[in-house]
Amino acid sequence: MADYNVIVAGGGISGSLAAAGAAKNGAKVLVLDRNDYSQVGKKTNWGWVCGDAVAKTHLDFINEEIGLRLTEPVLDVAVEGVQVLSPDLTRKFQFEGAGYSLDRPKLAKVIIDFAKKSGAEYMPHHEVEGPIVEDGKVVGVYGRDEKGEQVKYRSKIVIDALGIASTIRRKLPQNKYIENTVSTDDIESTGRYICYFEANGSDINYYDKNNALIHLNQQLAPGGYGWVFPKSGNRVNIGLGVEKKSLEIRNAKLNKKDTLHMLIDQYVDWNPIVRNIKIDEQDANGKGYWSVTVRRQFDSLVFPGYMGAGDSMAMPNPISAGGIGPAMVSGAIAGKVAADAVSANDASLESLWKYNLRYNTAYGSKTAGLEVFRIYLQSLNNDLINYGMTKFLTKEEAIAISYGNIPEITIANTFTKVLSGISNISAFKDLIYCVKSMKELNRLYSEYPKDPSSFDPWKEKVGSKMREVKERFKPNPI
Ligand SMILES: Cc1cc2nc3c(=O)[nH]c(=O)nc-3n(C[C@H](O)[C@H](O)[C@H](O)COP(=O)(O)OP(=O)(O)OC[C@H]3O[C@@H](n4cnc5c(N)ncnc54)[C@H](O)[C@@H]3O)c2cc1C
Repeated sequence: MADYNVIVAGGGISGSLAAAGAAKNGAKVLVLDRNDYSQVGKKTNWGWVCGDAVAKTHLDFINEEIGLRLTEPVLDVAVEGVQVLSPDLTRKFQFEGAGYSLDRPKLAKVIIDFAKKSGAEYMPHHEVEGPIVEDGKVVGVYGRDEKGEQVKYRSKIVIDALGIASTIRRKLPQNKYIENTVSTDDIESTGRYICYFEANGSDINYYDKNNALIHLNQQLAPGGYGWVFPKSGNRVNIGLGVEKKSLEIRNAKLNKKDTLHMLIDQYVDWNPIVRNIKIDEQDANGKGYWSVTVRRQFDSLVFPGYMGAGDSMAMPNPISAGGIGPAMVSGAIAGKVAADAVSANDASLESLWKYNLRYNTAYGSKTAGLEVFRIYLQSLNNDLINYGMTKFLTKEEAIAISYGNIPEITIANTFTKVLSGISNISAFKDLIYCVKSMKELNRLYSEYPKDPSSFDPWKEKVGSKMREVKERFKPNPI
């Protein structure tokens, strides 16, 4: 006998919105989270570790989908967009549109309150340890309550919103739909400070109060990037992410032993404008380290009785690592699809499959292509990135790629580009291959299986293309 229609494990962004979406659509919902309400949504002991930047389009989506409109003070600061700078800072591409820097602790309270108001029951102080699986389907979760005693809750559907280290996903029976783990090659180790600073003059290549800045630089942030995102009141969110193999190669070549922590401090020192930083101690959220995936979301987001949303399903954008938007979009959709499945009394794989289709339409269909672009980028050293951002791509083409749209790099304009002075033909050939592969993956995602019966051959085609790309492009930061 089920205690609830839907259990949502994790009360972060994806979890709170999934709970709201399911409860609003009539399901009896329980949200389990390990934190106290005063720290709801906190990811780790380090706090709500994040760059805090989100595009406005995602906020519009949740407003339309579940009727939640976020306002100040959750929307801490508005930005015109995200600007990506070349290592030599001579080239700047505007990615994504307008957006906000969020106050994440405040956001977490607003969205869990919204879930409660929508009818969801919320139980803090619960450590979720794994799924209850019977007859090949998930029928609940087990874990510990605040006294440390074993508890079990049963439901028709479990929505896994436990983040990147999900204890449910990792303990699902091995199956072809949901991977238990993520390869370290597809993970960025990241960290950031939220801090007060004194501006030493002005230079919008280093700090721009109207834009979120991303610095591509394989020496400062091998396999990843550094960021300087404005916050209100003379504060900034400054940090970086690195990929493990790229960092090892970079350290070996430069004869260094730099760690993530050291690189963040070096990056802050490198910035001539952001000076005299003082960690913002508010909410004990000023300094933190955590991981983020940079691959396409799992090939399926459902298993019998189970749906995953947000970081638990590797949803962050593969080139920007932006995961707030996908967590919002997936949470809102998952809740609604779960409620429909409960109404139909059908939590089978076939019934939940609608979620795969809806998520792909709303966001997921471009991420495999973006994963290819990320792998290609990691194979370029600073000189090639500088060169490529000047010669290979126009601003329009780069923007198109950031949205997952593939520019037409045709034979005709390839020829023009070659004539216009591209000396590094082999690197340009790599870009052509990369763009073709992105196109192929976008096409495969436009043919995402309408139901589980055609999943196997589709998954094999995607996997085979991705293996080919990874074989061609190896990390090569220096
Ligand atoms: C350094 C860094 C910078 C980033 N910058 C950005 C950015 O600028 N923009 C952007 O869009 N994205 C960014 N991201 C990614 C973004 O933060 C995540 O994608 C987002 O938080 C995902 O939300 P979620 O709800 O899926 O998971 P989480 O935020 O991880 O929430 C999971 C929830 O589940 C709870 N939980 C976990 N395990 C258990 C358990 N066993 N039992 C009970 N409760 C549990 C946690 O306490 C938490 O409340 C960044 C990530 C990092 C690490």
